[in-house]
Amino acid sequence: MTLDDIKEVIENSNNIVIFTHENPDGDAIGSTIATYLVLKGMGKNVEMIIPTFPKSYKFLPCCGDALKEPSMEKYDLAIALDCADIKRLDDPTEAFLKSETRINIDHHTSNGMFGDLNYVDPVAPACSQILTTILAYIKIPITTDIATCLITGIITDTGGFRYEGVTSETFQIASDFLEKGVKISKIYKESLNNIPKEKFEARKLAMDRTEFLEDGKIAYTYMTKADMEKLNVIQSDLDGIVEIGRDVEGVEVSVFLYETDKGFKGSLRSNDYVNVSDICLLFNGGGHIKAAGCTLPYTLEESKERILTQTKRFLK
Ligand code: 5GP
Ligand code: MN
Repeated sequence: MTLDDIKEVIENSNNIVIFTHENPDGDAIGSTIATYLVLKGMGKNVEMIIPTFPKSYKFLPCCGDALKEPSMEKYDLAIALDCADIKRLDDPTEAFLKSETRINIDHHTSNGMFGDLNYVDPVAPACSQILTTILAYIKIPITTDIATCLITGIITDTGGFRYEGVTSETFQIASDFLEKGVKISKIYKESLNNIPKEKFEARKLAMDRTEFLEDGKIAYTYMTKADMEKLNVIQSDLDGIVEIGRDVEGVEVSVFLYETDKGFKGSLRSNDYVNVSDICLLFNGGGHIKAAGCTLPYTLEESKERILTQTKRFLK
């Protein structure tokens, strides 16, 4: 499948719907709004579906246009962005499956290639960077609003240009976008350095509970539903907790468990040699080599025991 195929399908579709993964992060939101703006600019009848819109991205253009669910039964085209697995697509009415054609654009190693057209580049540091490349190839002009969304995705998924996936192309894109008037320092502050009080309290509790295991190679912490209710936080407020453990000297894998309706969600990060996507695949999850997740449908004690037992097997 080539980018020309994607271009042709888009040109031949009128009613289009865009989805991303559940509990969306900056890359999910940035990619989705950018694609929405592009398609709107092309005169398409387009909807973007983000059932739970995170507060921290309400500074982005057109965020108010996001819908909780699709308004139509069937679309000519459905696009999934930044989503490795169809099970994680936040699509309350299954409109993705019912659409005439399905495009899957993503950067996760574990992507299940669930589209009719799949454009997956596991080397790209963000889905937003892939989209930037696609737009350049199909010669779609990038407005300041579109660039703002795309750079938000790139900044958040690279931890502020810090992760290994960052390439000279990433900085080239940032440079081009700065020339278009994108306010990188404002986006950086809004998305990474603007922690609400509740989120701070959640981090404090998680840090306080952190256990260091296996000679300090594993950092483990957790959050139950009762904690979340008490602290008045939702899932998206827990972003960043798993990175705190990862950044401690000597830690190879950071494991954070938080309770959901389906049991406990495992969020894993590694520093050097452990492939956490492989650990999460053992529990039907996935993600990237150094950032992955899975669902553990057990009690806290059992979830902890299972995920840590597997994690230990991957340590040197
Ligand atoms: P996080 O820990 O931030 O929720 O997720 C880390 C990475 O792993 C993200 O790229 C996310 O998309 C992916 N991920 C998290 N949970 C799952 C899961 O249950 N299944 C799959 N396939 N990927 C996941
Ligand atoms: Mn991403």
